[in-house]
Amino acid sequence: MGGLLCLCGNGMSDISYPSENIAEIYTREDFEKAASKQMELVDLSDSNQEYWYCQICQRLTVIDRKSGKYKCSYSRKTLPGTIMFENVKDWQELFYWGDKEFFDAIEDTEHVTVGEFLELHPPRYLVRISPDRTIAHIFKPCDKEYLFSYVLDPKPDFKEEG
Ligand SMILES: [Zn+2]
Repeated sequence: MGGLLCLCGNGMSDISYPSENIAEIYTREDFEKAASKQMELVDLSDSNQEYWYCQICQRLTVIDRKSGKYKCSYSRKTLPGTIMFENVKDWQELFYWGDKEFFDAIEDTEHVTVGEFLELHPPRYLVRISPDRTIAHIFKPCDKEYLFSYVLDPKPDFKEEG
């Protein structure tokens, strides 16, 4: 879509490819479904929404792919107290990669499939999102140590563009 202004004011762009502002986020179910169909990684995309990552404030912004409009965003926070993986392990699992990881894998291996990619590039984070999708907790895959969270932002009050 070209450019997007983060809520923090940072201007982001996806004009260069791969873009450091684009994140690839999938549920484990969707990713494994694509893998089981032997889909090529190059053909994988979320048809409903796209994810933008701000290098300045680390916010993730979800954009409706059809309208190009802001859907919601999540701010990165380290929450106090102890968040145990055990307590949220039944929440939905998300996979997260940067655009560049997809790009490099496709450059390296022609026709690389979704399943092959997952074997070569296991996610660096273990992610669980709450059923109401207001919060996601991120852990280290190896020992499930809590790292940080992504918390849904209050709906911003956009002024109509005229
Ligand atoms: Zn930002």
